[in-house]
Amino acid sequence: MFKRILVLAPHTDDGELGCGGAVARFLEEGREVYQAVFSAAVRSLPEGLPSDTLVREWKAATSTLGIPAGSLVRYDFPVREFPAWRQEILEKLIILRRELNPDLVLLPALEDLHQDHRTIAREGIRAFKQVSVLGYELPWNNLEFRNNCFIILQESHLQKKAAALACYRSQSHRKYCREEFVLNLAGIRGAQIGADFAELFNLIRLVIK
Ligand SMILES: [Zn+2]
Repeated sequence: MFKRILVLAPHTDDGELGCGGAVARFLEEGREVYQAVFSAAVRSLPEGLPSDTLVREWKAATSTLGIPAGSLVRYDFPVREFPAWRQEILEKLIILRRELNPDLVLLPALEDLHQDHRTIAREGIRAFKQVSVLGYELPWNNLEFRNNCFIILQESHLQKKAAALACYRSQSHRKYCREEFVLNLAGIRGAQIGADFAELFNLIRLVIK
């Protein structure tokens, strides 16, 4: 039912981590998928790596999922300081709404503990007031999560997600970037609804046309 989908990623890798499997499925089904990232989180890079490392990894990861380079948008807000840039971020989101006119927006959960993620979630629901919105799951950032929206996936979608995450070599020390983690989490989410695999989302707003 959705034709144009926009993923809002506070930092490079959040989009792939939160909904990489669903994006692989949407693209396979011929839907348009856009991704906007708001910071390359240069300050979170391990020491000694070039400052464009995460941007290069993000381009490789999104291309592995199949998102065309022309469907990527990147802003450069300072990592961990998004709350102070709330208004500027909202203005960018309103431009994205006008230019892309998506009918589904995927963003971090409203209760996500990271201040940058929460800012994107809050401003995102404000900017995209008239369309369907789902909050994606980043379990290490959630104290609780409403299990109320599942997107069923095939193993091939998760293999694409894992291959995309493998592009983030600078983040390979993070347990949640491993293929085993991706498959295990999707297996748990699938089992909750009697499917082999799924990604879990918070249903924030559903508009049925
Ligand atoms: Zn993040």
